[in-house]
Amino acid sequence: MIIGIVPTGKVGSRISFMERMMEEIEKSFKKSDIDLSCQMIPKKTLNIPKLAYNERVGKHLTQPFFDLGMEMKNKAEKVLTEEIRNVLVVTDVDIYDPPYIELYGQANDSVALVSIFRLRNKATNTKLLERTVKESVHELGHTFGLKHCKNKDCVMNFSLNEYDIDDKTQFFCTECSKILKTNGREAWASWDWAKS
Ligand SMILES: [Zn+2]
Ligand SMILES: [Zn+2]
Repeated sequence: MIIGIVPTGKVGSRISFMERMMEEIEKSFKKSDIDLSCQMIPKKTLNIPKLAYNERVGKHLTQPFFDLGMEMKNKAEKVLTEEIRNVLVVTDVDIYDPPYIELYGQANDSVALVSIFRLRNKATNTKLLERTVKESVHELGHTFGLKHCKNKDCVMNFSLNEYDIDDKTQFFCTECSKILKTNGREAWASWDWAKS
């Protein structure tokens, strides 16, 4: 199963950061017995979608990032033999989606979006990487149909601030892993059926 990674803005220029992030995301899913590989699509960094910026608010709307993610997914699937299960768009600008004006990320059923803008708060590079991994795994969890989890250690626990993120792990709890496996398998099954 492939997760397509779409870097936008300045995050893509930090290739080592992106590579380590992708490795850690794979590790999180592997712990729940889900084998997926993160692949950068496309190879170059994309510009922030022009339509996203709202000058009055001074922030970027999330919807154009979701559209960009879908566009990249469709393009990449034309050249790849394997299906891209979900897409993760990573950006460095401040994102919002009224009424939510302070967001770390957001997700629909095929695209996850994460911004490192707020995660940078008082963070070393290592801390920023950890937070970005946790938020990416969290939003990807939503794309697999997972809801918020009450388990404080679980990556699906809701984080109100950066310190909540620091307190949880990058892994899914046993309960969430179970749901993840069921949903993951269903996705595989429907894909196999569609291709055969
Ligand atoms: Zn969430
Ligand atoms: Zn959980």
